[in-house]
Amino acid sequence: MSSALETLRRDFGGGIIEPGGAEYESASGSLLAAGNPAHVLRPQSIGDVQAGVRFAARAGLPLSVRGGGHGFPGFGTNDGGVVIDLSKLANVEIIDKERHLVRIGGGATWGQVAAALTPHGLAISSGDTKSVGVGGLTLTGGIGWKVRKYGLALDNVAAAEVVTAGGEVVHASAGENPELFWAIRGGGGNFGIVTTFDFAAHPTTDVFYGKVAFAASEAATVIQGWADYLRTAPEELTSTANLANPFGGGPEAPVEIYVAFDGDDPELAARAIDPIRRLGTVTGDDIALQPYADTLADGTPPPPGLVFALRSAFADRESVPEVLQILAEVRASERSPFIAIRSLGGAVSRVPDDSTAYAHRHAELMFVTTSAGPKPVVEAARPALEAIWERLTPHVDGAYANFLSSATEEDVAAVYPTQVYSRLAAVKRRYDPGNLFARNHNVRPR
Ligand SMILES: Cc1cc2nc3c(=O)[nH]c(=O)nc-3n(C[C@H](O)[C@H](O)[C@H](O)COP(=O)(O)OP(=O)(O)OC[C@H]3O[C@@H](n4cnc5c(N)ncnc54)[C@H](O)[C@@H]3O)c2cc1C
Repeated sequence: MSSALETLRRDFGGGIIEPGGAEYESASGSLLAAGNPAHVLRPQSIGDVQAGVRFAARAGLPLSVRGGGHGFPGFGTNDGGVVIDLSKLANVEIIDKERHLVRIGGGATWGQVAAALTPHGLAISSGDTKSVGVGGLTLTGGIGWKVRKYGLALDNVAAAEVVTAGGEVVHASAGENPELFWAIRGGGGNFGIVTTFDFAAHPTTDVFYGKVAFAASEAATVIQGWADYLRTAPEELTSTANLANPFGGGPEAPVEIYVAFDGDDPELAARAIDPIRRLGTVTGDDIALQPYADTLADGTPPPPGLVFALRSAFADRESVPEVLQILAEVRASERSPFIAIRSLGGAVSRVPDDSTAYAHRHAELMFVTTSAGPKPVVEAARPALEAIWERLTPHVDGAYANFLSSATEEDVAAVYPTQVYSRLAAVKRRYDPGNLFARNHNVRPR
């Protein structure tokens, strides 16, 4: 046994799962990627995280950090390396009742957070799915059902505890290590393992949530009208449009506009939502008042063998008409990918550009194309997808890291514009000069 492994076995109090072990099959892969790591470590304490990081560094093995395990590029596992699986660090604790400050373990899921906060009438702007991890979603954004009112998940982080590549524990907040605090709000898992996040939660009532469906033939006008309306809609209203759905009827699939109105006053909700109902011929409407936690989907694992190719980009005000025109044309073809468009603006756009490493504050919309199926099917669809993106590229800006299944140099450049990248690289050099945390949209130490 190597001395690094001996030290790990001595210092590590959590589970060490290795090939042949009882839990290995379920622990080796993440949700969307299979893997054959040599060691899956499940820390129970911050000391375990330190021991795990030191082990990976000393052993010279590739390191994957797994929060909720939902990352699309599959960075939550690897072959032959170490996985630090944070799922046992999932405590959710209200640490300041007056300020609604909540301390959340780096391996918690948003479902665990919702379950803990609902009895207190609190919520945090996050995503749309319970099984997604707090760690991965927050470190590069967090676009969910309260984003226009309360900003991205990362906009609500007040402080974090981080284990750096050297195994040291560092605190990051506006007052302590502010450059690290800037970097972890947008720069992903490049700088260390976040063992706890302190979030500012907000009181929540039940919310009006559901979808309005429109005839496929009206897709182009509905989607342009939707984007126009959201420019002046109250910020309590957050909305997502499922413009194309190859799994739900292809070109004949209805356009589905999901809305979440953050409030329980029926009159205010109707005033905010009715302009959407008037966008075209409504073929379905299931909007109802419900607990905020119930708006989050469970997130069932996909059938084995299904792969996902996701690309995303942002559109600012000037390019919205052009982008939506192209997407509406694409949705009418038999070979359209799934297309989802999320409204932004509101609180997201009011945060100063340089206060976090998230670099897409001015976008009105973020959209994602998804091809899914067995690998050969997704591969065969690639040329058609490339052609769609060639049309879109002149009009769009950047990429949303959480909805990318690849991590090429081009992707990294789209996520981090040059100035942001170079500031991140300086932080990386300080906290991870050897690039131990490389399985992510990677920032190389300057
Ligand atoms: C079904 C589904 C629904 C989704 N819905 C939304 C949505 O509504 N809004 C949205 O914005 N995104 C959404 N996403 C995208 C999601 O935010 C990303 O996939 C995210 O990376 C998932 O985080 P995770 O912790 O579950 O994944 P993981 O694969 O565990 O983590 C992804 C990466 O984040 C880093 N990481 C995770 N935790 C930590 C930590 N504690 N410390 C340091 N690094 C860490 C690591 O680099 C890791 O490789 C969704 C994804 C899926 C699959």
